[in-house]
Amino acid sequence: MGGMRALSLFLIPGLIAAADPLPAERRATAPGGGMVQLRLVFRKGIQIESAQLPKAFRAQGAAKAGWLAFDDLSKEGKRWALQVFWPEDEWREEEVRHWVKWADLESPWLLAAMFTGHGQNYNLLESANPKNPEKVVAGDLWRIPKNLLSVEFGGTAKGILDRSQPEDDLNDEERVAAYRKLLSFGQDGSGAYAAYRLRKGEALYSSIVMRYTDRVDPREVNQLALLIAARSGIEDVRSIHPGTLIRIPVEHLADPFQPEGSQALKEEREVREEVRRTPRVGAGPRLKGLRIVLDAGHGGVDIGASSNGVWESDFVYDIAMRVRRILEQDTEAIVSMTIRYPGIGFKVRDVLSTPTRSAEILTTPPFANDGESPSAVSVNLRWVLANDLLASFKKTGDAKKTLFISLHADSLHPSARGVMVYVAGAANVPATYALGAARGARVAEMKRSSRVSFTAKERLQGEARSRLFAEALLTAFKAEKVPIHANRPIRNVIHRSGKSFVPAVIRHCAASTKVLIEVANLANEEDAENLKSHAFRERYAEALVKGIRAHFRQ
Ligand SMILES: [Zn+2]
Repeated sequence: MGGMRALSLFLIPGLIAAADPLPAERRATAPGGGMVQLRLVFRKGIQIESAQLPKAFRAQGAAKAGWLAFDDLSKEGKRWALQVFWPEDEWREEEVRHWVKWADLESPWLLAAMFTGHGQNYNLLESANPKNPEKVVAGDLWRIPKNLLSVEFGGTAKGILDRSQPEDDLNDEERVAAYRKLLSFGQDGSGAYAAYRLRKGEALYSSIVMRYTDRVDPREVNQLALLIAARSGIEDVRSIHPGTLIRIPVEHLADPFQPEGSQALKEEREVREEVRRTPRVGAGPRLKGLRIVLDAGHGGVDIGASSNGVWESDFVYDIAMRVRRILEQDTEAIVSMTIRYPGIGFKVRDVLSTPTRSAEILTTPPFANDGESPSAVSVNLRWVLANDLLASFKKTGDAKKTLFISLHADSLHPSARGVMVYVAGAANVPATYALGAARGARVAEMKRSSRVSFTAKERLQGEARSRLFAEALLTAFKAEKVPIHANRPIRNVIHRSGKSFVPAVIRHCAASTKVLIEVANLANEEDAENLKSHAFRERYAEALVKGIRAHFRQ
């Protein structure tokens, strides 16, 4: 199965460049006589010095000096560069036969990017070479059949293959219903299961586990994929044919996919009904009377997830700063932050070169951030502070016009990408909760707001309003071409280490509408590249504000 790549690729924090293998370098004479420098760089692929390159080798608009990326080359230029690095490859009529030469620098992703036109096709390339190990080995033969070879090289592959699904354009409820229709239920010697026929281009990892269960942790998703493969009688998970019947044990299914008659499905339907009954709260185009608390996850001692040269804390903090700036400039919403980086303040930064080492939760007095583990104090102080700010607002303001947004980024399997929005599932929010002094800190807000309680109705309405808001956000992201998670981008629970839970920061938050946004998957190379660009972070922040305005428009 394509989704099962070496875990090491994304579990090792990819921050430190020192451990990266050195590039392979070449000098070659281009047609016309210019001596051209080329290099093959870890994770980045082929780069070429532009100055001596024949014009016909550059793509339209490519720079005439400096290092060009592979995608900045014309098809003739790409073909030439591949020839320089891999002169032994055989370009046959029906396939390209590629021999791995630099095992440290090559990967199925890189081969897919160069030969098929897109790295995301790596799982198809793996399926076409089922005997090859997940980590490339020097001397191994990788075959790129004509149907996977990019049209630029005479193949028939165009862009990302088999990625879009008919469900992609539906709203959340319809999409989940469409996924449910693809299941049938049965029973065998090992118990009850839901059966699914794998469609073309789908992988166990993404199309089964990520979609039909509440697991997102890459290691746990892998484990469950293996368990499901074994249950389905699949011997080689790396080459599963379309049409193969997959059996998912019912105990692993997420609520919307539980069998008819189950309590979980009943609750799921109650929430959907509540969503349909829930009126939107209007604050007008300038968001007058809307109280917003913005939280940027992690910070200071805790950089959060990291991969591909990006780390969670500063990148989500910068997006939060941009959201804050746009809201303050363009709206009348009252905005507060839960966290501040003392050396930076609320400044927007275009360049994020190293993790910022100090951050404080804006309680009275401020509390130095001590992380986001369940035992950390600051993770709880975030909702304590938010509830305190909201309580003083509610004395004169409209309680329905309260919004809490927590920004994070996750580290999923590298094939997954895009935004995922968590809402607090009503079933996983306790009716009352009091934060004990041992897990709190000596701050004024603890005395006033360390206890929280919700009626059953409040929990249901909270989930419904937050789902409506999440839908508005995703619509705005889609319109602004911000990538969205392919399966179920709105989720109300996480399953990890045998437990189902809602992140504490939204679980105990008293805002009427509250979401935790995983802005991108840092382990996905394209998501990481996007985040590195300040222009993308700005576009992201603009889309987020558009989503807020669309939702609270009268
Ligand atoms: Zn996080």
